[in-house]
Amino acid sequence: MVFFHLILTDDCNLCCSYCRGKIFSESVEWCGRNIEIDTELPPDLTIELEDLYRFIEKDPDACITFYGGEPLLRASLIMEIMENAPRCRFMVQTNGLLLQDIPPRYIRRFETILVSLDGPRDVTDRHRGTGTYRRIMENLGYLTTAGFGGELIARMTVGEDMDIHDAVAFLSSNRDHSFSSIHWQMDAEFAGDAGIRSFKRWLNRSYNPGIRRLIKKWVEMMETGEGVARWYPFLQPMQDLLAGKDSRLRCGAGYANYTIMTDGHIGPCPVMIGMKEYYAGHIKNANPLSLPIVEVESECNQCPIRGFCGGRCLYSQIVRPWPDGMRMAVCDSVKTLHTGLVEALPEVRRCIDEGLVNEGDFSHTRFNGCEIIP
Ligand code: SF4
Ligand code: SF4
Repeated sequence: MVFFHLILTDDCNLCCSYCRGKIFSESVEWCGRNIEIDTELPPDLTIELEDLYRFIEKDPDACITFYGGEPLLRASLIMEIMENAPRCRFMVQTNGLLLQDIPPRYIRRFETILVSLDGPRDVTDRHRGTGTYRRIMENLGYLTTAGFGGELIARMTVGEDMDIHDAVAFLSSNRDHSFSSIHWQMDAEFAGDAGIRSFKRWLNRSYNPGIRRLIKKWVEMMETGEGVARWYPFLQPMQDLLAGKDSRLRCGAGYANYTIMTDGHIGPCPVMIGMKEYYAGHIKNANPLSLPIVEVESECNQCPIRGFCGGRCLYSQIVRPWPDGMRMAVCDSVKTLHTGLVEALPEVRRCIDEGLVNEGDFSHTRFNGCEIIP
């Protein structure tokens, strides 16, 4: 079974501070490797849909995640594909503002809906625009009335103006709308903004201590009968620690998870747009079940916690967007996560032994768009 992000459009109806907003920052100066990018890539999906269907039908259990830009700007295309694609699972990764453009009968077919927001109202609105939080909450209410029964994942991007502990705690007990699961990623490495960030200081003073507090809280919730909170950066690594399993790149990029570009080329991940050198074929002639594996040599191969981390991010292994000191600070955050979860393992095992939770409570769909290692 293979997961595919399908890029419907590069267009977006928001200009978030950590995404497109960075384009307008004069202080941003790229210091990573310069990779050849296909500048001819169309901004909107231009493939023949019959090619997509012929490609997808070769995989009896394929999963398509609609992706952008903001994929719901092309709501009618989403519905056309859901109507006509061969047996297929569907997910969507959205900013949540246009969910009401999808009628209930399509909403109910989504296995997973990933909605981007950044925790409390003030932080979400600061990053994503005034009024965004309220509009997302209204639209999540629509999902309930539409009968959505799948997994609703809140996806946060966390940066120096955030307290990770408070943001996750807020979303976990959110009175406006409850999410099935929470995932977060750091605003790290995707722009040449290393020179203007206080990132390392924030990691040491806020993020890493916050992760330690959150792990403690996560285990306390198990001990007090609240079950296993579906916080993806803890959920999957702990499942593997319990099973004694190592992991490859946890997002699945380049071996379990691929991205169909707007011209039908297949890349390893939705961030590696137009990076031709790393393409794995084209939907017109590739077989989804035998796509080439895309991987690179990097310092991750020698890392003592590679089996836990998986290498974190193929894109950053290739592009190396930040100077070494910043990259190592990101790796230190992975070490904090690793140490915290390993230390929590005996308590989690005790909770399982005492019947407070069971191993099945950690199960989840891998490669569903949560990159796992923040
Ligand atoms: S911690 Fe850093 S060096 Fe180690 S595997 Fe992860 S990304 Fe690579
Ligand atoms: S973690 Fe990196 S390689 Fe994986 S999907 Fe995200 S950007 Fe791509």
